[in-house]
Amino acid sequence: MRIEIFCQRCGESLSIDDKGKGTVECPQCFYEVNVPATAADIPRLCTLLEEGPEAAAWALSDLGAVDALPQLLHALQRGFEHGDDNDGMSSALVDLIEGNPESSRQILTGLAQSSDPYMRENANWLLEFCGDNQADADSPTV
Ligand SMILES: [Zn+2]
Repeated sequence: MRIEIFCQRCGESLSIDDKGKGTVECPQCFYEVNVPATAADIPRLCTLLEEGPEAAAWALSDLGAVDALPQLLHALQRGFEHGDDNDGMSSALVDLIEGNPESSRQILTGLAQSSDPYMRENANWLLEFCGDNQADADSPTV
């Protein structure tokens, strides 16, 4: 069975075999995309994201599924396009990120380089919740 995941660097959607573990190369930016540990759950969660984005987002947040951040950002954008205020969805995203600031920052930094302007905008917004102080501490002193 084929499932759809999103490149953690550029946000490109990739169709992969759901048995494929490890990494797959993104045809767009040649990034080695991590196939999420939760890959088998993704088709179900994506269906949930279509039907009830907020509930699915909280489920993913509880799982600590930072690999699903690209999907969540797509769902968030769909919500905005449908005129939703996305309050619950945004809270779930912030909760997920604050619980996993290190891994979230890695993924969001990649998504902030996306060719998709909405993806960039949302990724940059969420990066504010990753703990910039920590990022500064990790950076070499200039
Ligand atoms: Zn890519």
